[in-house]
Amino acid sequence: MKVLKFGGTSVGSPARMKKLLDIINPQERQIVVLSAMSGTTNNLVEIGQAYLAGDKAKAANLIQILKEKYEGIIKELYSKDEFYEQAKGVIDHHFGLLSSLANDLFTTIEDKIILAQGELLSTTLYHIYLKEIGVPSVLLPALDFMKTDEDSEPVVDYITSHLTPRLDKHPEVNLFITQGFICRNSFGEIDNLRRGGSDYTASLIGAGIRSEEVQIWTDIDGMHNNDPRIVSNTKPIAQLSFDEAAELAYFGAKILHPQSVFPAQKYKIPVRLLNTMDPQAAGTLITNTSEKDKIKSIAAKDDITAIKIHSSRMLLAHGFLRRVFEVFERYRTSIDMITTSEVAVSLTIDDTTYLGEITKELAAFGTVEVDVNHTIICVVGDFAAEKNGYAARVLDAIKHVPVRMISYGGSDHNLSLLVKTEEKTEVLRSLHSRLF
Ligand code: ADP
Ligand code: ASP
Ligand code: MG
Repeated sequence: MKVLKFGGTSVGSPARMKKLLDIINPQERQIVVLSAMSGTTNNLVEIGQAYLAGDKAKAANLIQILKEKYEGIIKELYSKDEFYEQAKGVIDHHFGLLSSLANDLFTTIEDKIILAQGELLSTTLYHIYLKEIGVPSVLLPALDFMKTDEDSEPVVDYITSHLTPRLDKHPEVNLFITQGFICRNSFGEIDNLRRGGSDYTASLIGAGIRSEEVQIWTDIDGMHNNDPRIVSNTKPIAQLSFDEAAELAYFGAKILHPQSVFPAQKYKIPVRLLNTMDPQAAGTLITNTSEKDKIKSIAAKDDITAIKIHSSRMLLAHGFLRRVFEVFERYRTSIDMITTSEVAVSLTIDDTTYLGEITKELAAFGTVEVDVNHTIICVVGDFAAEKNGYAARVLDAIKHVPVRMISYGGSDHNLSLLVKTEEKTEVLRSLHSRLF
């Protein structure tokens, strides 16, 4: 059974929703994961922010504007009154819920409930559309089977045990529709898998049901060899290994949620990145195999903070790095890049929630310097043989740009550079013209 995920643009208008059946084959048993319609999650974020700021009038205004948008959408999506009325009821319910939150003490719990409405709306409206045109389908609430544990990690076994019986209940149905992004946390509250999380949902479902293939349908013909929003002449990559794709997703290739490769990788489920706007395009296939001797792609991750601990006394003492890492562990802050010299260690983080506490504790080990507004540029490919001198070519391409850190050799398929964010565009373009 395949899992097909359609992103925001792919369900972004009534016309787009209607076109999905050009791609979905209702004769084949499959699970279809939908994102919220494009723009909706951003709108919901703004509504949550207005509530959090205590500005109920602004929240009410934003809710009204979004509701009117959906009222326009359903006028276009359905042609029969019966289904239009059903959809109208759905919209009234979800927007009524958004408005009712004005009466609550507003916390992150309510904020997560708000964010969940986009996927709940898109899937329910699409399900009603399928009913109108007579295509049998079952709407599976993701909140019944998508769950995270105390560490906010999704639980694949829970998906298997809760989703499989729900599929088995409908042996006669081929098409199952569910929400991307949303889940329940360990307290049973509504939560989500972070922005862009519908990719993660698809991969987790694929792992949970040991799917034959996960397809991520989006608005571009696969993973490109550089960020198409910044560099022109980027090209789709036909094939990537799970490790390469994970590296690119983690280091900023927006086409994939940073965590989304891991469940598929663990259960060896091929992932295809495909273009809803051009379904015939080959896209990108992600599997266990890696092509030898090739630079595949470049990605960039912003909002990186570099921390340098300078300690001539202690660095070479055994146990020093452990004590440094323990500080980050205590504050549940993960480290992306690390470089060491005899007298100092530099590392980067992207979550600065506990930066103050961390630097205070690190000060016990030596002088601490913090640099904000940096970007990690990650070059991904097969660096193993090193016979093509790729590392030298990378450095040569950016010799005119100051580089704060270089990380190479941690794996066979990644060379990362830390530069000031203001240099990002120049670095991406220079690397592109030199490497491809
Ligand atoms: P969806 O809503 O379908 O999940 P996203 O906007 O999350 O779509 O991801 C697709 C977008 O990712 C593309 O439109 C493109 O601008 C951006 N993107 C960034 N880096 C890459 C890359 N290396 N290859 C392809 N797309 C990329
Ligand atoms: N709708 C969510 C977001 O915009 C999840 C997703 O689209 O993948 O982040
Ligand atoms: Mg996305």
